[in-house]
Amino acid sequence: MASAAIPLSIDQSSFQVLDKIEGQFCNEEVFIRLLHFWEARNFKKGNVLMGVELLLLDAESKAVQGFISANRLFRHEESLKRNSVYKLKKFMIRPAKALYRVSDHKNTICFTDLTTMISVVDCEEKIPTQKFRLRRFNDFATIADRDYDLFDAIGQLRLITGDNLKSPTTAEPPMEVAENRSKDRVFLHLLMQDGQTIRVNLWGDIAGAFRATWNTSFVQPTVILITTVNPKTIGGAVTLNSTSATRLFFDTDVPETAELITSIGRGAGTTPTVTTASSAITKYEIVTIAEINQFLQNEPQVVVSFYCIGTVVDVLGQSGWNYVSCTSAGCNAKLGKTETSLYCATCKKTNNVGVHRYRFEISVRDKNGDVATFVVFDTDGRNIAGRNAADVLNESIQSAGEAARHEIQTTPPECLRSIVGRTCKFQIKIKEYNFTASRQTITVSRIVTDDATFDALPPSVSNAPLAVAETSVKKRSTPPMGSGTVPAANQPSVGDPTANTVTIKTGPEEYDAGKPEKRPRVEN
Ligand SMILES: [Zn+2]
Repeated sequence: MASAAIPLSIDQSSFQVLDKIEGQFCNEEVFIRLLHFWEARNFKKGNVLMGVELLLLDAESKAVQGFISANRLFRHEESLKRNSVYKLKKFMIRPAKALYRVSDHKNTICFTDLTTMISVVDCEEKIPTQKFRLRRFNDFATIADRDYDLFDAIGQLRLITGDNLKSPTTAEPPMEVAENRSKDRVFLHLLMQDGQTIRVNLWGDIAGAFRATWNTSFVQPTVILITTVNPKTIGGAVTLNSTSATRLFFDTDVPETAELITSIGRGAGTTPTVTTASSAITKYEIVTIAEINQFLQNEPQVVVSFYCIGTVVDVLGQSGWNYVSCTSAGCNAKLGKTETSLYCATCKKTNNVGVHRYRFEISVRDKNGDVATFVVFDTDGRNIAGRNAADVLNESIQSAGEAARHEIQTTPPECLRSIVGRTCKFQIKIKEYNFTASRQTITVSRIVTDDATFDALPPSVSNAPLAVAETSVKKRSTPPMGSGTVPAANQPSVGDPTANTVTIKTGPEEYDAGKPEKRPRVEN
């Protein structure tokens, strides 16, 4: 129920405070400040709005999380204003959830049909204007990947990577990058007060908010406070990820940032380096399959690329190995069949000339022994097979006869199986459908090299026991695919260049990542 704000002379003794509320329902009035509110959506169910989450602060500076379900939102929607003060009564008290906590309070407040939330003025000074839960590098490292608490971080901006950023250090013009990478992410290095540098991903709208402040500031900020971040281990490094609840504060916005500015002093030497996302394309994080799965469960729905190193253990047949593709320039879409013709849904036109292209699934196992299904497309397929999908198809049908056409079309040919046993560095792309798919397949943008080793991976900092890697040497009969064309920068930078297989011991079981044949082993 939206009510006009009423001036109020506060007699604090007539109000209840959060810590003194008992029972499951509160009939008394609580005097609170609405610090922040944000939408709670269910990514798994078509992004449906579940309700609005609130962060509330009382007169004793105790913060609590609140929730208004979507069906009750109409009563309060219009009166919700960040940083306003309200008197709130007739609400449910529930134990705080264990995951994704944004306050320390043991309870949360749930709005019911009876709840009233009435804006009050002239008494703002009675409640503090902010409350943060700041943590340092080691705190985040300890709780990474657990999803319990979403704490706040503060630090000095040292590196900013993203597109369309006004850049004080380079003269590069802003550039548009394929797939709206520019819109989806800003990547930061933040120097924290304990002297450690932490990596930060700002996603979606939060990346947009950062870009807006950065580009419109006359003096570009040197200090940032980022609230409600989720620490994840990505590519072996602790990385803070923005959430839908994240807010950003810069330089003199709040006392905490102003204090940090004063302590480090403004001036030379504190200007962060700014690079474009496109220049960072060679700096994708290398992730494990477990990290991909975690990413899909926890991150906002974005298109993003990673590297993943894994050994191909099989070429899968269940989804065939080729498709009939559109031939329009730049279009690789699968052509659909109508009664009499072929139709491209992407180009929205009939296209009766189709071409067979590779699309096949492989089973990939990473250094931890986790397995995922990757999808390989035409360019890599041609590299592996040494010829076009159409040629493979025609040759097979010529030698086996027209009667075998169906089986040939659906069974992966031997020439594709040459990838089995290879340890590859894959550039993979997480797409929107990955966040909702029931059968998970990961798109391979390209196979960077089929001659990768696991020892190029950074050491893991997670709590899982570290795998012990020992390299072994074997002769290879064929040169690595695309060798000589892969830029040196993309090759693993660590390890014995003559070693192309790695045996990883995980406890009593030995995982052999190489080809199955016997080979001499050289102890590391
Ligand atoms: Zn097309």
